[in-house]
Amino acid sequence: MPTTVQGYAAHASNADLVPFSFERRDLRRDDVEIDILFCGVCHSDIHHVRNDWGGETYPIVPGHEIVGRVTRVGPGVTRFVEGQVVGVGCLVDSCRECSSCHHDLEQYCLNGSTLTYAGKDRHDGSLTFGGYSEKIVAAERFVLSIPAGLDLAGAAPLLCAGITTYSPLKRFGAGAGKKVAVVGLGGLGHMALKLAHAMEAEVTLFSRSPGKEEDAFRLGADKVVISKDEEQMKAVAGTFDLIIDTVPYAHDVNPYVATLAVEGALVLVGYLGPLEGDNAVNSAPMVFRGKTLAGSLIGGLAETQEMLDFCGQHGIVSDIEMIDIQDINAAYERMHRSDVKYRFVIDAASLGK
Ligand code: NAP
Ligand code: ZN
Ligand code: ZN
Repeated sequence: MPTTVQGYAAHASNADLVPFSFERRDLRRDDVEIDILFCGVCHSDIHHVRNDWGGETYPIVPGHEIVGRVTRVGPGVTRFVEGQVVGVGCLVDSCRECSSCHHDLEQYCLNGSTLTYAGKDRHDGSLTFGGYSEKIVAAERFVLSIPAGLDLAGAAPLLCAGITTYSPLKRFGAGAGKKVAVVGLGGLGHMALKLAHAMEAEVTLFSRSPGKEEDAFRLGADKVVISKDEEQMKAVAGTFDLIIDTVPYAHDVNPYVATLAVEGALVLVGYLGPLEGDNAVNSAPMVFRGKTLAGSLIGGLAETQEMLDFCGQHGIVSDIEMIDIQDINAAYERMHRSDVKYRFVIDAASLGK
């Protein structure tokens, strides 16, 4: 029997999120049912709700940084048992047959991965609903183990902010002797500082916002550069092996490209879309200094588990501000003003209030 659950949904791009009840499907063979404990609030939740990327179908129940406890498993499930603490990130399914899926890159599934919310279930065509709710059902392959010892609310943001920054750090070789910079100190940015520091890279934060220096040093930065200050930008020209750019909106990347060393790479994880006009990218530094401009989307499931285990070993979780679901609209407003240190996490118990 499907289970009726309480959640919070947006019914239009200009509407607040409001209480919404809906059904979670009965378990398929490889399904895991999870009682949600905590769900992080990602800037992508705002992009989806506001239809920033177009093509959304409403209602949208956001949330893809989910930690909870297993309540039931389907008959084919082998890796999870009732009572176990688990996580679900941005994906709940993929085709499992294409070359990306075969190479543990489910996020790049050539037949389209199934997003945790605002996606379409590939078996019954229903709209997927995310973690701003009491329960979720997901296929075993897309469920992660949460290492013992991590604070569970702080672990929730690892499922998106953690893996989205861990994956390009690994792919582009962050480690001892490497100079890594992070653009933007928000949810993704603060995880990038912690992870790059734990990988033993030398870490710099680029921020628009003076006043974040003390936090940046505490989070793992060795240096802070105020990106609006031309002198400070000039002083780091030709420096970095890798830059992770988390800025959510269209912006000029050329000043950051100038701070890359020879064969350095700038990886965009925030903004999606054309860089035009004043923001158009100049290819000359790519050619004359062998630089790379790249992008990256979350990470595959195996790498997400690797990241969680790394965080378990290093005691890394997100710095969070816990909220009740009733505060979600105010939280979105504050995220627009970059007024969050550094991730809101919803206490799912508040759904019962
Ligand atoms: P967030 O917590 O709101 O942080 C974004 C940070 O970017 C802000 O704290 C701010 O840092 C900086 N910033 C904001 N507006 C800016 C502007 N107009 N110009 C320059 N800097 C600006 O957001 P988040 O949750 O970290 O997400 C960041 C972006 O990544 C979003 O677009 C989100 O959709 C995307 N995302 C992508 C993936 C992926 O797989 N690629 C996964 C998750 C999220 P300062 O004040 O320090 O400058
Ligand atoms: Zn996210
Ligand atoms: Zn696939």
